[in-house]
Amino acid sequence: MLGMVGMVVPRRRSATSVCSAGCLALTLLGCSGTPSRPASVPAVAQWPRVVMISLDGFRTDYLTRPTAVRLRALAARGVRAERLVPSFPSKTFPNHYTLVTGLTPAHHGIVANVMREPTLGLFRMSDTAAVRNPAWWGGEPIWVTVERQGRRAAAYFWPGSEAAVGGVRPTWWYPYEHTRPNAVRVARILEWLAMPPAEAPALIAAYFSDTDDAGHSFGPAAPQVDSAIARVDSAVGAIVDGIARLGLTDVVNIVIVGDHGMAPVAAERVIVLDDYLDLSTVEILDQNPVAMIVPRDGDVARVMARLAGAHPHLQAYRREAVPASYRFAGNPRITPIVAVADDGWTIATRAELARKTSWGGAHGYDPALPSMGTLFVAAGPGVSASGLTIPAFSNVHVYPFVAALLGVRPARTDGSIDSVRAALRPPD
Ligand code: AMP
Ligand code: ZN
Ligand code: ZN
Repeated sequence: MLGMVGMVVPRRRSATSVCSAGCLALTLLGCSGTPSRPASVPAVAQWPRVVMISLDGFRTDYLTRPTAVRLRALAARGVRAERLVPSFPSKTFPNHYTLVTGLTPAHHGIVANVMREPTLGLFRMSDTAAVRNPAWWGGEPIWVTVERQGRRAAAYFWPGSEAAVGGVRPTWWYPYEHTRPNAVRVARILEWLAMPPAEAPALIAAYFSDTDDAGHSFGPAAPQVDSAIARVDSAVGAIVDGIARLGLTDVVNIVIVGDHGMAPVAAERVIVLDDYLDLSTVEILDQNPVAMIVPRDGDVARVMARLAGAHPHLQAYRREAVPASYRFAGNPRITPIVAVADDGWTIATRAELARKTSWGGAHGYDPALPSMGTLFVAAGPGVSASGLTIPAFSNVHVYPFVAALLGVRPARTDGSIDSVRAALRPPD
């Protein structure tokens, strides 16, 4: 099996829901399942492992910025993609969940950062009850694949990791806390890596938000983005160094991905919604730069008549007519009207505009735009060596790639290993 250091599969029961709301008090220690393993588990098993790191809002070209030193070094000994193409909408929750399930948002069900469903109510990223409700989360995240096949997984923040999807959470997971210092995250990741091989998580997924935060506040070209790149770059460097120090360079693969890019926005590029719509007649879920619109009286034709052709930089679609390239169809959580702004344009109400004092960056636009492209860098024993750049590919293919590195049987997805085979080290 690919990159495996030759051992027997450690078998154990699937990890089921192991952490209740009560463990919130243990946030710094993390939530954990029973740490002991059944007696039947072999004492030593150096299976290939994967550390999968998401750098939120890391645009493809950030890899060439002066501060991306360790990331470039990693790419030089492994593989990078010309661009990782997000799924529509190019937002955080839909794309993180695509990265770990290999399904488009329409297929895994997280079609936006904000959603509404008659039976489930409102979904918002900051609503702990919603993000923990498995009913929102479809498909099979890679950590569930791993746990179901007798190995362990850990997530240091990842959309979906707080919910028991199909009854299974990663053995270790944390309630999201935006301000948790990167150093604390890195230290925990190194502890997981240092565990005895038979107990250590085969998969560690981790998330860093710095580049998204800086990109939104200051725009992608700003020096503050260089600083944010430096911070995530040194977190990656510390993990790479830790892997080397632990003697695990031939065991652990590192996969670095982003969820989307970042486009600069400006006061000259605003679509003022109330110029076209009576806002009291619609509910707008996710609004910028993709407006997910529900007419309150159900009269889609009336709202479409207002929006179609209203602004040269706004494309409004009925949910049945979203362009096929967006692969955004067939899910009832998609609102009756989806209105997408052109690259770098902002959708705002007049009231929001009046309050706005600064302009930075945004994402959510057409995933095919270069500005929405993001990062894919991988290195390790299962990865093709030495500085290969593979063509741009869709993020639905990341799941089968990680499954192949781990040697687990992948679930059926929208992705295919053929699209990323060049990034895998050919079998000896
Ligand atoms: P956006 O830029 O609107 O697509 O979303 C980015 C934001 O998502 C980040 O600034 C975080 O606040 C939030 N976020 C990222 N991961 C999680 C998570 N696992 N749980 C809750 N919120 C998250
Ligand atoms: Zn994001
Ligand atoms: Zn963002």
